[in-house]
Amino acid sequence: MLVKSILNRVEPLKSFVYQRAEILEVEGTPAVIQVEIVPRANGRPICSGCGKKGPTYDRLSPRRFQYVPLWNIAVFFVYAMRRVDCRRCGVKVEQVPWCDGKNHLTTSYRWFLARWAKRLSWKETAEAFGTTWDSVFRSVKHAVLWGLARRELEDIEAIGVDEISWTNGNSYLTLVYQIDGNVKRLLWIAQGRTEKSLRGFFEFLSEKARKGIQFVASDMCKAYLNVIAEQVPKAVNVLDRFHVMKNMNTAIDEVRRAEAAELQRDGKEQILKHSRWCLLKRPENLTGPQAAKLDELVKYNLKSVKARLLREVFQQFWTYTRGGWAVKFLDSWCEQATESGLEPMIKVAKSLQRHRHLLANWFHAKGAISSAAVEGLNGKTKLAIRRAYGLRTYEGIQIALYHTLGRLPEPESTHRFC
Ligand SMILES: [Zn+2]
Repeated sequence: MLVKSILNRVEPLKSFVYQRAEILEVEGTPAVIQVEIVPRANGRPICSGCGKKGPTYDRLSPRRFQYVPLWNIAVFFVYAMRRVDCRRCGVKVEQVPWCDGKNHLTTSYRWFLARWAKRLSWKETAEAFGTTWDSVFRSVKHAVLWGLARRELEDIEAIGVDEISWTNGNSYLTLVYQIDGNVKRLLWIAQGRTEKSLRGFFEFLSEKARKGIQFVASDMCKAYLNVIAEQVPKAVNVLDRFHVMKNMNTAIDEVRRAEAAELQRDGKEQILKHSRWCLLKRPENLTGPQAAKLDELVKYNLKSVKARLLREVFQQFWTYTRGGWAVKFLDSWCEQATESGLEPMIKVAKSLQRHRHLLANWFHAKGAISSAAVEGLNGKTKLAIRRAYGLRTYEGIQIALYHTLGRLPEPESTHRFC
């Protein structure tokens, strides 16, 4: 079979013809397949300004457009662009179906790279297909912009609001996920974790979409709660399990650090060394050595262990089927926390009491929102940030996250290369 026959199958052209395909070998560089394209006889060029046909003005010198590689050999189209003498736009370069604008990568190749960049890191994608990191980046960006402009935002029932740190904890991102039964995906990214960061999301939605939101899962951050109350007053704001437990873990860690410093100051045994994860993980997730470490810690009368125990007791809260009972349990737990005398845990108890209606909402929303969704998406976001290492700009992170978590639409094409 000839290369031309394959191309006519995977990338059929209406007004153009694949002509000669040849292997080009230049010493010192890898061989490439070069395919010449010519316009069909009597075919008139299409103006890139208005999309209408017009008479040919002249032809530019031949240009190369990179296509999807064949058997790991780079493929290039070679074509001399015509210029159109357009009645409306003046003299304009023609529009061709395999590429847009001044790009030297064909559209099919860009989608090819973008799809692989979901499975591999951008660096690996570039290496695997013999192209540059920059080409991969631009291909992914193109795919993201295409998808963002065409995604459906009308049927969002439940959202989760989350914050995440990046660039080593110096800056924060506000993220909004869709977490209902329809789909779980990333909807919005903004810099910072202020009211403005979140308000942008609601202002971006159509009024119909905004009014369709029935549940919002968030943590107790005041800025977020304010904006949720202002923008979707009828939605049930849920303080979700993931965020409550995250706050508790932060408190446990605070207790541990203070206690470790105290032990050191008093010249006591450094029993809390390497104890961070055995204190933070749930019992079922502990590794053998971590479980052994915890067993050892329990023998001492440690504040850190007390804090951890309080968290484990709190897990019961989520098992209630009725909100009323759960709130009663909350009160007794808060009493225990207060009695513990551990400042960070008391702080958590106070804020839970202050937001008890949000906690009770958890039971109203049960079934309507997936409790693990925010946690799952949060984990995937962290992974995507780690994988996109080397991306130091906000634009880069934004594109990487929308690409991997946005579930963005893609165009229909004759052939799917991967
Ligand atoms: Zn025109």
